[in-house]
Amino acid sequence: MDGVPLLRSPSTPHPAFHPLTVVEVDPVAEHAVSIGFDVSSMPMFLDYRAGQYVTLRALINGESVRQSYSIWVPPSRAAREGVIRVAAAAVQGGRMSPWLASEVTIGEVMAVLPPRGDFVLDEVAGPRHHVGVVGGSGITPVLAIAAAALEQHDESTVDLILANRTRESTVLGSEVVDLQRATEGRLRVEHILSRERVHGVRYGRIDPLVIRAVLDDVGDIDAVDDWWLCGPEGLIADVEKWLQGSGTSAEHIHRERFTSTGPVDPRKNPPSGT
Ligand SMILES: Cc1cc2nc3c(=O)[nH]c(=O)nc-3n(C[C@H](O)[C@H](O)[C@H](O)COP(=O)(O)OP(=O)(O)OC[C@H]3O[C@@H](n4cnc5c(N)ncnc54)[C@H](O)[C@@H]3O)c2cc1C
Repeated sequence: MDGVPLLRSPSTPHPAFHPLTVVEVDPVAEHAVSIGFDVSSMPMFLDYRAGQYVTLRALINGESVRQSYSIWVPPSRAAREGVIRVAAAAVQGGRMSPWLASEVTIGEVMAVLPPRGDFVLDEVAGPRHHVGVVGGSGITPVLAIAAAALEQHDESTVDLILANRTRESTVLGSEVVDLQRATEGRLRVEHILSRERVHGVRYGRIDPLVIRAVLDDVGDIDAVDDWWLCGPEGLIADVEKWLQGSGTSAEHIHRERFTSTGPVDPRKNPPSGT
């Protein structure tokens, strides 16, 4: 081969889809389900970092559709149980999410790409203070990150600010409560509901004023080590702008956008309930 120019530079092979069996389907909001896949004999699915996602492929109404879904359980739990779990919220008019939310049953075999993504918790030695700002189904990677962060150091703390339309549409709401109970006060949660008034719960749409009021409650934002923003584009942009205006440097701000295929019409898909 010496002296012969390579026509194509060597590249890593495309990752392959693997058939995974669904072993669990649970409702996690009125429009969302958690789907568990058996990965007990699939080390490449267990070797992931909190915050990563898998890509699912399915034939739906004669069309091959692929979409990404973040793993909402921390790697330690997946390793213990041999199951990775994703949660999908049905998007009106969507191809895959309504199908996942209403058609998928235990025993179904789906094509799945191994976990990937850069919205991940780093390994750090000391205690950290994390804040997650989340809209709707954006809770999925942030819940895995929160759980892993609280495991990482027993003095680490997490504040979660969760924006949803109503209590019933709050994705993984019970699982957030479970994590709160298990971590004895190190996880604090502030809800914002946009379509239901509940005593003691902040009401409103997510706009910069509400974000500012809620984030002010978090306390000294300079004491926050990592910000985790996930959800609709508008929410992420508003929070990021507010943080940058408050002097937070970019390295402390992590974000994951769920809509990668062009702008979403906010009249059809209100940002706080996806
Ligand atoms: C890295 C990554 C991780 C993700 N993780 C999750 C997750 O954990 N849980 C989850 O429910 N979703 C997640 N998503 C979104 C998911 O991949 C799909 O985009 C979503 O389920 C819609 O797919 P669909 O086939 O139903 O809709 P499509 O057929 O792709 O879209 C139909 C219509 O819905 C609009 N639309 C698409 N996505 C959204 C959305 N998220 N909100 C509002 N409107 C939308 C489109 O603009 C279009 O008008 C993630 C996306 C990315 C990029």
